[in-house]
Amino acid sequence: MIVMKFGGTSVESAVAIERVSSIVRQRLAQKPVVVVSAMGKTTNKLLAMAAEAVAGRRDEAMRLHAELRQFHLDEATKAIDAVDLPKLDCILEEHFVELAAFLDELADLGEFPPQYVDLISSYGERLSSAIVTLAFRHLGLDAAHVDSRTVVITDRRHTQAAPLYPRTYAKLEKIVKPLAEKQVVVMGGFIASTQDGFTTTLGRGGSDFSAAIIGAGIGASEIQIWTDVDGMLTCDPRILPGGHRVKLISFGEAAELAYFGAKVLHPATVVPAIEKNIPVLILNSRNPSSEGTRIVGDRVETTNIVKSIACKKDITVVNIRSLRMLMAHGFLRRIFEAFDKYETPVDMVSTSEVSVSLTIDNTDKLEEICTELRHIAEVKVDRDQAAVCLVGDNITHTPGISARVFGALSKVNVRMISQGSSVLNMSIVVAGPDLRDAVEALHTEFFSTIDPEVFG
Ligand code: ASP
Ligand code: MG
Repeated sequence: MIVMKFGGTSVESAVAIERVSSIVRQRLAQKPVVVVSAMGKTTNKLLAMAAEAVAGRRDEAMRLHAELRQFHLDEATKAIDAVDLPKLDCILEEHFVELAAFLDELADLGEFPPQYVDLISSYGERLSSAIVTLAFRHLGLDAAHVDSRTVVITDRRHTQAAPLYPRTYAKLEKIVKPLAEKQVVVMGGFIASTQDGFTTTLGRGGSDFSAAIIGAGIGASEIQIWTDVDGMLTCDPRILPGGHRVKLISFGEAAELAYFGAKVLHPATVVPAIEKNIPVLILNSRNPSSEGTRIVGDRVETTNIVKSIACKKDITVVNIRSLRMLMAHGFLRRIFEAFDKYETPVDMVSTSEVSVSLTIDNTDKLEEICTELRHIAEVKVDRDQAAVCLVGDNITHTPGISARVFGALSKVNVRMISQGSSVLNMSIVVAGPDLRDAVEALHTEFFSTIDPEVFG
């Protein structure tokens, strides 16, 4: 049994759904459970019409409502069998009448409580999963629809609900697993419900999380996340084209890369899969023959110490220096308190006896933070900096790696270095305009020979 998750763009139209069905058909032997997102940008559209209703603009809300209904009708009509048109009408009527009633309630309320956010945004996946089921049947797949809200059970933290795992796994095992033995089960991602039946959601982009939960619950042998890229690469293609595909990566490495903006997948979402030792694959629905990237729980043994080079542009370095810091205690605490007070996350830190350099992404409150810091130290701010992060399970355990890094970067001014907090990354900061040269030099150093088992 496998789980195949398709995101919003993969099911945005009749043509896209047809592509999905042919990918699924080729994997019938593996007994797929298909998890889908809302079609295209539906979640955003639902939230936009709710915002109109809350603001008292009922007419505009209803205009968007009609538009969304028409969109679903048009695409679904092209995707399903003519015999099923009355069934489609029923589905659309039921969902959109209910939705209109909720919009009305919101207009009366004049606010948008989290329970309503979940209710409203749930319609995207409820509709897409029902429509994809009908389309699969039309395309010759024996498909069965399961409303995820009946099996994925969460706490009451609306808009960011957490699954109650034992209950959820028990339901998935009892309901979805036996069904998937015989039919292609289709479920909506993102949506769930509390024990007493209130609709919840797992947070924006939550369909990946759903796929991992469902895979863990049915004991899938693999979870496939179908996107529109070939998987993870050895370098960011926007900075340096021509990187290699990473075929195999450990969960820890994937997590480091995601943090540095390789936005293929948020690692927290696949934790349920990794805990049960189920590999997660990133695959491309527009290029289904590519084998993608496989994320596994264990370390990946390879002769290439660096698995990928991630980078982050437009970061700001704050340099804080004070002679009073020498041998004093409490200094770092006071520095971090200033960032904490203004809710500004700090990414990298490096310190000496008398100075601290740290990087931040969000500079909205930088002025205020600097004012605070200047009570205790000299502060200098460098904008337009870039972080480059080498990721690989064995980086810190490998002698000579720093020599290779700095050898490769002999022509680039390195502003900051950070290593050690995690054994699998080494990060440096360079001036923004030096970023491409730095990445190119490091890529040449670490990927001129590649292990064919691990890189494609
Ligand atoms: N449809 C939801 C969203 O747009 C969940 C997802 O697509 O993963 O956030
Ligand atoms: Mg997504």
